[in-house]
Amino acid sequence: MNQSHELFERAKKIIPGGVNSPVRAFRSVGGTPFFTKKASGSYLTTVDDKKLLDYVCTWGPAIHGHDHPVIREAISKALQNGTSFGTPGPDEVEMAELLVDIVPSVEKVRMCNSGTEATMSSIRLARGFTGKSKIIKFAGCYHGHVDSLLVKAGSGALTFGNPDSAGIPESFAKETIVLPYNDIQAVENAFAQTEEGIAAIIVEPYPANCGFILPKDGYLEALRRICSQNNAVLIFDEVMTGFRLGLGGVQERTGVTPDLSAMGKIIGGGLPVGAFGGKTEIMNFLAPLGPVYQAGTLSGNPLAMAAGIASLKLLRETMPYERLEKLGNQLAEGVKDLANQFSIPLQVPQVGSMYCLFFSETPVQNFEDALSSNAETFKKLFQHCLNNGVYLPPSAYETCFISAAHQEDDIAHTIDCIKNAFRSF
Ligand SMILES: *Cc1c(COP(=O)(O)O)cnc(C)c1O
Repeated sequence: MNQSHELFERAKKIIPGGVNSPVRAFRSVGGTPFFTKKASGSYLTTVDDKKLLDYVCTWGPAIHGHDHPVIREAISKALQNGTSFGTPGPDEVEMAELLVDIVPSVEKVRMCNSGTEATMSSIRLARGFTGKSKIIKFAGCYHGHVDSLLVKAGSGALTFGNPDSAGIPESFAKETIVLPYNDIQAVENAFAQTEEGIAAIIVEPYPANCGFILPKDGYLEALRRICSQNNAVLIFDEVMTGFRLGLGGVQERTGVTPDLSAMGKIIGGGLPVGAFGGKTEIMNFLAPLGPVYQAGTLSGNPLAMAAGIASLKLLRETMPYERLEKLGNQLAEGVKDLANQFSIPLQVPQVGSMYCLFFSETPVQNFEDALSSNAETFKKLFQHCLNNGVYLPPSAYETCFISAAHQEDDIAHTIDCIKNAFRSF
């Protein structure tokens, strides 16, 4: 038995499913998870000394690659001054200034500790600000494990066959209207039919938690218009896309400006962080200025701020987006060519450093389309790649990430690996 197996056996006895986040358990791809002892650049090293080219990138944060020396140095330096103060610290101001400067919609911002907290607090704030209760979310969009948002929530829930989690009172879920993504008429209808009004629309502008889905032309613009017409708050959940699809995220790419934005992942530089921000008028509803309560013992933690600031500044200095787009293209085009060559029905949606592989005849525009792709074929591909040193996300409904540490050779190697997989199908 190898060390990963041994650790997993020990873990299962005392951690539910042996993992601290469900998708890590490999349930949807079979086999048992490997345990990682070290991550550097574009590679993970397992406890059994296997090196794996990593397309999970710690589920998004590692845009600079793992263990970037500049971020490591920033954390070490901050560590000299202690790990938590419980008072305001200078780095929190610098972080807030950076976020306001970079993200188009953000005039004021509050730090928290995870993406889940960011979306949860955004929803509470939108409700407090509008005085309305109902919210709209889209099937397949994942906004963290917030009670009222864990309804048709994409990969994590999907992978485990219970799209609606147990433990969420029906009365909570009733406040959430779930609509198909990419269908503006459905949104118009919901507003027309909901007499008491709707507080907010929350959306992953490019949904990346049920594979990777792109909006139809004009879709995000229409959401913006409808929210403005109905005094509803438009919330972009850019926890995944922020700072990754361009420095200012999807809102910068598309020019569609939400009222509030939820952020996380990259802004922690690998440490646990979230943030939410937006219009001053709305943000001023937060305590201690306003009536909406939100707090955190470790919010604005100095180590997390140091790592996040270093990560953001590094993005600004290196602006890796053009190169990431090239690598992403190289991979997507390479894999599409292979699919043609081997007559395998495959869609490869890709923007910049994000892509996914849907084994499907037709383009995937929403959650239902994603569900009808062939997850069994993905499973075979996943296992083949893992056995050959390439780690894809362990679910057919996750997005793959490329980091600035990935090289053209890495991509070429991956295409080769996928070619051999396709040959064996
Ligand atoms: C990861 C993610 C979250 C949740 O963030 P956590 O830090 O895991 O709580 C929320 N929204 C989106 C779009 C995400 O990808």
